[in-house]
Amino acid sequence: MTSIQYLKGVGPKRAILLNKLEIYSPFDLLEHFPVRWQDRRLSQIKENIPYIEKPFVFRGKVVSVRDMYTAGTLRIFKAIISSEDKEIEAFWFKRHTPKYDVFAKLRKDIRPGETIWITGKPEDPIFSTKIRVDEYCLDTDEKEKKLSMATLVPLYSLTEGLNQKLMRKIMHAAISAYASKTTDLLPPEITAKRAFMPYELAVRYLHFPQNPLNLKEARKRFIYEEFFLMTLAWAIKRRQTKTINKGHKYKIRKHLLSQFKKKLGFEFTKSQKIAINKIFSDMMSRSPMTRLLEGDVGSGKTVVAMSALLLAAENKYQGVFIAPTEILAEQHFMTFEKFLGDLPLKFELLTARITGKRKKEIIEKVRKGEIDVLIGTHSLLEESVKFKNLKMIVIDEQHRFGVRQRAALRRKGENADILIMTATPIPRTLFLALYGDLDLSVLRDMPPGRKQVCTFSVDEKTAFEETKKELFKGRQAYIVYPVIEESDDGELRSVKSEFEKVTRLFPDFKTGMLHGQMKPSIKKGIMEDFLKGKIRILVSTPVVEVGIDVPNASVMVINNAERFGLASLHQLRGRIGRGEHESKCFLVCGQMSPQARERTNIMCTLSNGFEISEKDVYMRGAGEVMGLRQHGEMRFKIADIYSDSSLLKLAMEDKDEIIKKDPNLQRREHAPLKNKLFKLYQEKWNIIDLS
Ligand code: ADP
Ligand code: MG
Repeated sequence: MTSIQYLKGVGPKRAILLNKLEIYSPFDLLEHFPVRWQDRRLSQIKENIPYIEKPFVFRGKVVSVRDMYTAGTLRIFKAIISSEDKEIEAFWFKRHTPKYDVFAKLRKDIRPGETIWITGKPEDPIFSTKIRVDEYCLDTDEKEKKLSMATLVPLYSLTEGLNQKLMRKIMHAAISAYASKTTDLLPPEITAKRAFMPYELAVRYLHFPQNPLNLKEARKRFIYEEFFLMTLAWAIKRRQTKTINKGHKYKIRKHLLSQFKKKLGFEFTKSQKIAINKIFSDMMSRSPMTRLLEGDVGSGKTVVAMSALLLAAENKYQGVFIAPTEILAEQHFMTFEKFLGDLPLKFELLTARITGKRKKEIIEKVRKGEIDVLIGTHSLLEESVKFKNLKMIVIDEQHRFGVRQRAALRRKGENADILIMTATPIPRTLFLALYGDLDLSVLRDMPPGRKQVCTFSVDEKTAFEETKKELFKGRQAYIVYPVIEESDDGELRSVKSEFEKVTRLFPDFKTGMLHGQMKPSIKKGIMEDFLKGKIRILVSTPVVEVGIDVPNASVMVINNAERFGLASLHQLRGRIGRGEHESKCFLVCGQMSPQARERTNIMCTLSNGFEISEKDVYMRGAGEVMGLRQHGEMRFKIADIYSDSSLLKLAMEDKDEIIKKDPNLQRREHAPLKNKLFKLYQEKWNIIDLS
């Protein structure tokens, strides 16, 4: 394929810059979609369209110009420009350099009497008479005008060394030379059925729209394409998984599971039972399990996961339980000790703090198959960790792991069964779109006796007074600060700076400090003391966000709560309300933005994680909230799962139809589609196998 280097206006140096944007050929360039557009016409559209900016645009005759040096190193070029009904002062700033005259070109172009166009930012927003110029163009320069002014202009994501104007020029060259050489990957019947623009036209209009309407149509086609490819990839992946014969079999032997159930001391909730049954039947089926277990904070996902790991162990298979943080992994390990400590089950913990001889020992045992369940963090992903017979993989809080990390774990076992867990509930359609290859179990009910947590937005004084009352009743409290150490601006309060104050304010109760920079052994000691009730107040960073489980802790004070997102607040708050006691959460906020105010209101009125998540999706957009497959590796270029959900629905319908007709995309008319899927989901993300 033609290298981007040979495109008009590129060359070897700029090619390197474009490579940074993953642009290697002119065709890649065509797929480098604008992120927004600017309406640079004199009569701009009236509507507010989120992807169209409306900058200040002016066309007029140059009255006079001045070229000035300031005392410093700055040079200013000023032009008075006048139209029939307005006169403006346009100016340009440049750093002075003795090497050449930075304004030579400006002086040549902008002369009194010339008619020019400018666009830029008004320094005086009300009257818009002093304009700092972003771009200008001579009225006589028809070519430039058609590309950069008096039209809708694309804005691209760039990298250092490139600018919008340059990118636009290069893109224009690519469109002129290559748009007609592209193939449309959408099957003709879909293009016809949905009345989409054909690819060639759509790609022209997407980069250089003539009006908002054809931009809208072009965007529609590409948004649809992104969704269509994604849902197709998941559907193919799902089919593929279902046809694998995993080769290992399970029998329910019960010697571990029944003991475990006895030790628990509680009954599984109805939805835990349903989930466990589903998981067991997946495990006993012919093909590998890939199931997502969704459940609000505190709904009891851990014991469900443990059941799956025990069934594997009963069948002499190894299991792995990976969590995103050390604290969480340690907590899981302690849960294993608590419920399985005296059963014939060998489990170990492997995290970054386990090193040297001990680490070697564990790795050796895992390799020989002497450990049944390995619990840990990212350390488990290391190349050196090899299993003898890994068949059950559990991933906790899975949105914290990337696609590649999950794949690395998967490679450690052969056709292992996989259970992934998340506390971020996903609306049903989004689940199907984002995780169409997974089966879903949801824990809808909470373990009995959970008290609702009442949440209040108060000042620090009130929060501490209320906390004190609870402490005198025998309860324990979390006091959370956003950061470990104060930053220079002193905007956020920190654990280290406030710890002493808290200790002073609560002289009757023992306090403890917990944050990520502490030595792991000390951290562990503090956690244990808090769990045992020796420490009554835990002053900490949001490290307590996941995992920690202390039923007697019934109060939480979250400082600088305005700085936390809804998901974090909900997770944090999930640490309390775990015992038989009435629980209270106090949000202490600093300066609040309107969004922060809304988040606080939501937290004070809603307690259900599903409802909060829905609000969160609405406020921040699905991509942000789910983290998931949108993050890093797999970001959509222009689609937004939430605001483009109607197109998502169409894409999913069409996907079903096409998969029914041609499940392996073997028909000739589906070849371009298959190629694209291969390039994206196999070569780039290594998710499906299309060979
Ligand atoms: P999460 O889903 O947030 O990971 P956990 O698995 O940590 O929740 O469970 C929270 C707490 O609830 C733990 O202390 C766990 O032992 C307890 N628990 C789980 N299931 C039940 C149940 N069916 N009845 C009572 N307590 C339960
Ligand atoms: Mg959990």
